[in-house]
Amino acid sequence: MQLNDDIISIKNIGEERSKKLQKLGIFTVNDLIEYFPRDYDDRSNVLKIKDIELNKINTIKGKVVIKPETTKIKHLSITKIRISDETGFLEIVWFNQPYLKNTIKYKGEYIFTGKVIEKYGRLQMEAPDYEIIDDRQLLSNGRIVPIYASTYKFSQKLFREVISQTLGSVKDQIKEFLPKEILRENNLCDRAFAIENIHFPKDDKSFFKARYRLAFEELFLLQTKLLQIKGILEHKQCNINIKDTNIKPFLDILPFKLTDAQNKVLKEMLNDFKLDKAMNRLIQGDVGSGKTVIAQILSYIGVNNGYQVAVMAPTDVLASQHFESFKKLFDKLNIKCIFLSGSQKAKEKREAYELIEKGEAQIIIGTHAIIQDKVIFKNLGVVITDEQHRFGVKQREILSKKGENPHTLVMTATPIPRTLALILYGDLDISIIDKLPPGRQKIDTVYVNSTYYPRIYNFLKKNADEKRQAYIICPMIEENEKNELKAVLSYTEELKNEVFTSYNVECIHGKMKNDEKQDIMDRFYKGEIDILISTTVIEVGINVPNATIMVIENAERFGISQLHQLRGRVGRGSDKSYCVLVSDAKSKQSKERLNTMVKYSDGFILSEKDLEIRGTGDFFGTRQHGVPDMKIANLYKDMEILKQVQKVSIMLYKKDPLLLKDENKDLKEKIDNFFNNIDNTVSL
Ligand code: ADP
Ligand code: MG
Repeated sequence: MQLNDDIISIKNIGEERSKKLQKLGIFTVNDLIEYFPRDYDDRSNVLKIKDIELNKINTIKGKVVIKPETTKIKHLSITKIRISDETGFLEIVWFNQPYLKNTIKYKGEYIFTGKVIEKYGRLQMEAPDYEIIDDRQLLSNGRIVPIYASTYKFSQKLFREVISQTLGSVKDQIKEFLPKEILRENNLCDRAFAIENIHFPKDDKSFFKARYRLAFEELFLLQTKLLQIKGILEHKQCNINIKDTNIKPFLDILPFKLTDAQNKVLKEMLNDFKLDKAMNRLIQGDVGSGKTVIAQILSYIGVNNGYQVAVMAPTDVLASQHFESFKKLFDKLNIKCIFLSGSQKAKEKREAYELIEKGEAQIIIGTHAIIQDKVIFKNLGVVITDEQHRFGVKQREILSKKGENPHTLVMTATPIPRTLALILYGDLDISIIDKLPPGRQKIDTVYVNSTYYPRIYNFLKKNADEKRQAYIICPMIEENEKNELKAVLSYTEELKNEVFTSYNVECIHGKMKNDEKQDIMDRFYKGEIDILISTTVIEVGINVPNATIMVIENAERFGISQLHQLRGRVGRGSDKSYCVLVSDAKSKQSKERLNTMVKYSDGFILSEKDLEIRGTGDFFGTRQHGVPDMKIANLYKDMEILKQVQKVSIMLYKKDPLLLKDENKDLKEKIDNFFNNIDNTVSL
């Protein structure tokens, strides 16, 4: 068996099981041994029967002293055995597993892990995991036991057996790829040991060594890759000269003054133009912090220096919103903005291509369609990407390898601590807008249950009477899409026909065609719709200052970061704004999450609270940052490893940036393949 073989070549894995494993993303033997446990159960403490702790999970060893028997009471079959060790007897029962009567051998020695209760004055262990004691390695008892994320009815026991057996036959093929020096200096165990002990740790110490090594490895690969991308960018010559940085004419037509925070970021950006390399900068700023105007200033500078500027957003709706707001300003300056998206009609696209190629279009705003090969720019000088988390490392890499080397600015609203940003965005320089524009009022947030609907509806009516608008968000999760969409649509009908009869209510959802969505959004911008019912399509970036109420239904189904993004859609104008979280959820975690939303409004604080509540935090879902999911490293809890990794990869990068030295050969191969298995949120 080879590491690259299909899992079907593993003993005990046939068509059916192989399909189940594939659903978990396991296709090859290597995938299987790198499918790390999601948790562990410490069953290493084997107790004597006399020491059993009542109403707890216990692990004990014993010999079967009476013949197993199965009795049937109505529909329930009960298989019962009795075991003993030198300190006493214990009764063990299983329900509805009559075959155990023949599996468990009379006089056999077994190890059991299960809950012990008292029944009719006697101790009884219920439905334990069991294993026979022979010369084979114990997998599920008497040790630290791995628990795998297995949702497709692939039992833990089977998982353990299959992995153990596979490891046994391919262990020798597990190759070390970290350079010896790095292993030694960081006190890392070798890879084969790590993989074996992450599944079946010999003891605590081996487990921690294994985990440390694998987390180190994972972060190290990411970090080294990011440094390489950064290196490619820095070494590329930049022929795009920005000399004229006078932005006064633009500032003169702006209806507000830049905040100090915006000015600081602007200064950092202008500094980049003094260097002879391309700008490659990330702007991080909470929802509503005013990132768009920074993008506009950069566009203005680009155009003023004779270059074309591309502005990309992750969705059509967002892109066209940007287009409108850019056009409003740049028309006044006689600068031509055009819109381009994949969903436009062929004729419109052709016209756009032509304007771009001739250089007549100066600012091109659209979805990622605009950096596809078909689009030929006359002289592209600046690329701006909004909502960077949809635009991952992989896209950044592709872009960095493209012919031109434009100045690049990416913008994200996801707040993360600085140390982490340095790592996730190792290829970018970072600027932070850390204060919201002035006059912004706190959005009053309330958390209520569904008995409040009549009051919420009245509140919405009153708001509409005062010519302000509102959103109602309904969650929709993928598994049930059809039914849920139906629910959203019928809810809309109900509100239209029974509650808000004299108001304009519309619904927008992800399954609509782009021009339908666009039409609804246009009408919402114009104030023709009072209440917009929406699934989460509006989550990022929408800016309608006249919308002042955000109602979120089944709020427990959203994570803190999503709730924060959604809430950020209101409070964008001068009017007092409100967010209403509706939830009947009973779980402590949900309640805590929603109460946190009520209490805090700052994105950075929320991200920390999120971390506290959830352990990892969905703010930090690496996907959100366009970084591949980590299999083992936890970007928050492993901060110390991260810092160490960062040092080590910078050192390595200085010594051998392209990994051409012989001792780094295996590492190079691994890193070159690093992105191959990542599914892209956005493809170019
Ligand atoms: P985001 O950072 O979420 O993209 P936007 O750029 O959409 O935020 O800005 C949010 C709102 O704040 C917009 O209505 C914008 O016009 C306004 N705004 C931005 N900068 C300022 C400022 N310096 N003073 C007043 N309002 C501002
Ligand atoms: Mg924005």
